Amino acid sequence: MPQTSEAIFETRLRARVCIQAHLVFDTAWRIGSGKEGETLSDLGVLLDVAGRPVLPGSSLKGRLRSTCESVAHALNLTACMLDHEATGCNCVSDVKYYHRVREEYRSACRSGLQQRLRWINQHTCAVCKLFGSPVMAGRLRVGDGKLQDWADLVQVRDGVVIDRDSQAAVNVLKYDYEVVPPGARFEIQIDLDNPTDADQALVGAALFEWHAGSTVGGFTSRGLGRFHLENITLRGVDLSDPKQRVRFLTRTRPEERLEDLGDWERYFSERIEAQVRRPEGGPGK
Ligand SMILES: [Zn+2]
Repeated sequence: MPQTSEAIFETRLRARVCIQAHLVFDTAWRIGSGKEGETLSDLGVLLDVAGRPVLPGSSLKGRLRSTCESVAHALNLTACMLDHEATGCNCVSDVKYYHRVREEYRSACRSGLQQRLRWINQHTCAVCKLFGSPVMAGRLRVGDGKLQDWADLVQVRDGVVIDRDSQAAVNVLKYDYEVVPPGARFEIQIDLDNPTDADQALVGAALFEWHAGSTVGGFTSRGLGRFHLENITLRGVDLSDPKQRVRFLTRTRPEERLEDLGDWERYFSERIEAQVRRPEGGPGK
């Protein structure tokens, strides 16, 4: 599969990698609805019209992004974390940095499309290239989790407001919040379009972390939201191969359109190892 840093300029689909997995909650968890719960608790959880818990793709993507940010340095890759001053990473996704270099950017824009795209590529960190930024479309999509199994009930827990000075509970300021009990299982899907070597190393390292165990949702500092991944499968298509191209264009079932890419651990280990051995700033970035 051709993978060059110039790939980001392409709007054509050349290759796709599709990761499917089961996300299983080891503890209770909550994605807040932003309003009162069905149980009349103060802080509801997000439920669908049938009253079943929802795991939005946006929550998963946000968590995946922060996991990739945490492993980027170990992979010799840059992550601005949207804060140029804190990270020292020159990425135009940070508004403050963009304002500093906007004259340079305008000058690149006047030099034509290729110059402009090259400039954006040089001034965007590896994580923003993968997940997208205000000036560049991302190459990664995460769908909403598809519920496979759950306890079929929402629990309510009590919370108290803690006084920051005395660290004591303020008696009159009690509230309660909803959680979904442990054991909820979702099928999740992550799609990578025209991924570079660096993209695959980042997502692969994040998958290893999620397989071992991570957190998602609210109140994780109180022990909520722990999950792990199971049954990870990997499929993909390389459209430069005529056989794969015909199959992709003529099959109707999603799982038949893509080739089985084999064992995910081996696939991503190879890419992570290659990325770690690559000198900082080298190709693939
Ligand atoms: Zn960035």
